Amino acid sequence: MPDGDTTRQGRTLRTPQALRDAGLLRPDAEADATRVATRFAISVTDHVARLIDPADPADPIARQYIPDAAELTTAPHETDDPTADGPFTPVKGVVHRYPDRALLKPLLACPVYCRFCFRREVVGPDGGLLTEAELDTALAWFEATPAVREAVLTGGDPLMLSPRRLGAMLHRLAAIPHIETLRIHTRVPVAEPSRIDAALLAALDVDKPVFLAVHANHAREFAPPATAAALDRLARTGIPLLGQSVLLRGVNDSAEALEALFRAMLRARVKPYYLHALDPAPGTARFAVPDDQGLALLQSLRGRIPGHAIPTFVRELRAGGGKRPVSHG
Ligand code: SF4
Repeated sequence: MPDGDTTRQGRTLRTPQALRDAGLLRPDAEADATRVATRFAISVTDHVARLIDPADPADPIARQYIPDAAELTTAPHETDDPTADGPFTPVKGVVHRYPDRALLKPLLACPVYCRFCFRREVVGPDGGLLTEAELDTALAWFEATPAVREAVLTGGDPLMLSPRRLGAMLHRLAAIPHIETLRIHTRVPVAEPSRIDAALLAALDVDKPVFLAVHANHAREFAPPATAAALDRLARTGIPLLGQSVLLRGVNDSAEALEALFRAMLRARVKPYYLHALDPAPGTARFAVPDDQGLALLQSLRGRIPGHAIPTFVRELRAGGGKRPVSHG
């Protein structure tokens, strides 16, 4: 694997050595990070690297993306498939958990690889791109399943597809009479915003409503002008923007950090939608925040920020039970 590659916006760092050379990994942490890299993918785009303060050992952006020795330890409650997609997969690339909607995972590559990712066992730069035949089978499943009214594109990150391939997929889904809405989950606006160009916007222009769920966990992710401009372009095309975050220790586990995050989303025209409790993927325990603490944090924001700035706090149930609002006790 090369140390880094060149994206439209600069070099993407993909190995511990590249992170060390960029000053984002302490030399004495490289050996452990190299062991982590044998199991979990690493990617830090140039855009994200510029957001990190290398002088701050507790930098909340670095914590999301820089590998750590703690990832080598799997806690007893952690599991390879915490959302249990497997039993709900009727054909490759599709997850059908709720009657009225289904996920389509056209690829498993992302612009960045998050250290807390719930699909960390399967995402990576080499994996998961459906072949044309597999994609055709997946789309045919949507066409043949009239109960499904929303197609949710996730992965991986669907905005890593070429605009041509993404556009063809969206057009075929939009042409299905029983599909009413399309939703795309993505980290691209905050990780590699240069991808939100005219060709991508044209690909998103289909005859059914497209909602974009923007995944971000810290206010600073919205600070770069390139991210603000990308979200502005999306919003001006009429695409509703929803914010999805994960409550992460050391990243956003304070009222101040959450307030700043949700206010940053609103300024970027992104409606805070879900705050997820951490899914117990292997080696992620250092990010866990107790549910009661999460509830108290959100409660503390009531009256402090507008009601529409407060997302719903949810947890994925084990064994594929789906999302449920977190409640006391
Ligand atoms: S962008 Fe999403 S799917 Fe990709 S590594 Fe991060 S959390 Fe996982």
